[in-house]
Amino acid sequence: MNKRILITGGAGFLGRHLCKKLLENNKVICIDNLLTGRKKNIKEFTNLPNYTFVKHDVKNKITFKCDQIFHFASPASPIHYQKNPIDTLLTNVLGTHNMLNLALKNDCEFILASTSEIYGDPNISPQKEDYYGNVNPIGPRACYDEGKRAAETLAFDFKRKHNAKIKVLRIFNTYGPYMAKDDGRVISNFIVNSLSNTDLNIYGDGKNTRSFCYVDDLIDSIIKISKIKKILPTPINVGNDYEISIKEIAKIIIDLNNSKSKIKHTKSLINEPKIRKPDLKLLKSLINFNPKTNLVDGLIKTTRYFKDNYN
Ligand code: NAD
Repeated sequence: MNKRILITGGAGFLGRHLCKKLLENNKVICIDNLLTGRKKNIKEFTNLPNYTFVKHDVKNKITFKCDQIFHFASPASPIHYQKNPIDTLLTNVLGTHNMLNLALKNDCEFILASTSEIYGDPNISPQKEDYYGNVNPIGPRACYDEGKRAAETLAFDFKRKHNAKIKVLRIFNTYGPYMAKDDGRVISNFIVNSLSNTDLNIYGDGKNTRSFCYVDDLIDSIIKISKIKKILPTPINVGNDYEISIKEIAKIIIDLNNSKSKIKHTKSLINEPKIRKPDLKLLKSLINFNPKTNLVDGLIKTTRYFKDNYN
């Protein structure tokens, strides 16, 4: 076994995929309070000798010996973070502070799952790492957006003050198997609706764009970045830069499933980003960026997961 790796949020969607990949060669300690994560996601690991699950809230301190920390614990979908806004902000501030201190104690690398949401409703496209963003600090999305911005600030202040070994990943929309069917993300919502022939709800006119990355491709990029020996001086955008409108993706999902669902439109959400596309020049300069799954294939695989697990 190569390393002892601590993953927070390891029972969630991305955390589960990260645990699976890292368990191939490492010992993994998964920390999660199961707020949005699910025991079902990690069932296949629980008897592995190199896997430990600890039910714990990262807002509270904890000590483990480890060689690398992937800090992924945070509610991530609007319905969850808006239901628990104060907890979301504190998880990102206190949880990140606790994990940075743990990284210092272990003299190990700390990798933060930040988000494209730190760009808010961007005034430029594609979004490059040196863009400061356009975030409403008191709006309904602020608990998450500002929470992640504060988490990034903490990481870079720990680097400046304490020489912490940090890597900050700005993850763009990712989808795939093991998303929870009811956590309100656009692709899972549309797939669930199309499979039950119920209307697909689009907030606004559907011209808003997103760039979706299939989960295996995202995890591949994250693993490659985690292996880079040098400390990276800026955050890094991670995702896929194939941009598509919400209406277009709704139509594709309806067609793929031969669904009788219709598209309906409701009022736009407050502060919802109108465009979202990563500038991936920095990522491509650092790793051999090689996304293998195009949108249609990824949607087919994700739909199969939803059919097998939720019908
Ligand atoms: P998720 O909700 O499936 O997973 C988050 C996990 O964190 C859950 O298992 C949850 O129980 C756990 N958690 C939440 N608060 C906690 C706390 N206080 N203590 C311990 N555990 C806690 O979401 P995800 O999509 O897997 O996101 C994982 C990380 O990646 C998050 O930090 C999110 O902000 C970031 N991210 C995800 C995406 C995406 O498209 N999935 C995009 C950008 C950033």
